[in-house]
Amino acid sequence: MFIHVKETIQPVSIGAPDARFGKMLLEQFGGATGELTAALQYWVQSFHVEDPSIRDMLQDIAVEEFGHLEMVGKLIAQHTSKIDQGDVYDAPLFAMKGVGPHFIDSQGSAWTASYINEGGNVVRDLRANIASEAGARQTYEALIKHCEDDKTKKVLTHLLTREITHTNMFMKALQAMGKLDDPMFGTIAPDETVNVVFNLSRGEDYRGPWNEGNFQYVSEPRAEGGLPPDPVNPDDEKIKRVAAE
Ligand code: MN
Ligand code: MN
Repeated sequence: MFIHVKETIQPVSIGAPDARFGKMLLEQFGGATGELTAALQYWVQSFHVEDPSIRDMLQDIAVEEFGHLEMVGKLIAQHTSKIDQGDVYDAPLFAMKGVGPHFIDSQGSAWTASYINEGGNVVRDLRANIASEAGARQTYEALIKHCEDDKTKKVLTHLLTREITHTNMFMKALQAMGKLDDPMFGTIAPDETVNVVFNLSRGEDYRGPWNEGNFQYVSEPRAEGGLPPDPVNPDDEKIKRVAAE
């Protein structure tokens, strides 16, 4: 069951409308790192999660992201209101599509479900979510740096902050499963190369925790696979060779 509350979780009001900035804001409405992607990603993940506490967390965050989607949409609506010919020149996208938010990104590309990163395993999903939150946070930072309106900046700073909180929650959930610093998950055991690290970009090589300690560092890797069998194409290539002879 859904119940919609018309009030937003934090105030959403802007100073001066700026249609050009409204176009940039579309990145967090219908873009890859946007709030629709986040809301639907966590929501759909929650359907396959067995652990009721993780499911509850995913649904709490998914619904918060729907609230963020609404906040970004309200910002775009305000920034594109009272649009005049000068503003249309700066943001022709709204001249064509109409004012208010649309499910397109700041470059006009349509939102697509392929932005959603989810699939059948809770560890896989929670790790994907950390990456998604990083993307969202970074986009908000870019938006804040291009924003000239203090009231808009305040809303965007709240939205950026919440992505940090969500990252923390996903990390704590992985930690509770012992999967924050254990790369292995799933039921299929890895092969004997699991701790082998290849130095495949030569010159100015560095060592660090990613190739020291338990890792077996191969400084000069050699091909050990031999040559795979050649493809067999019974048609064109043989015909051409006979013709040439
Ligand atoms: Mn969000
Ligand atoms: Mn988030």
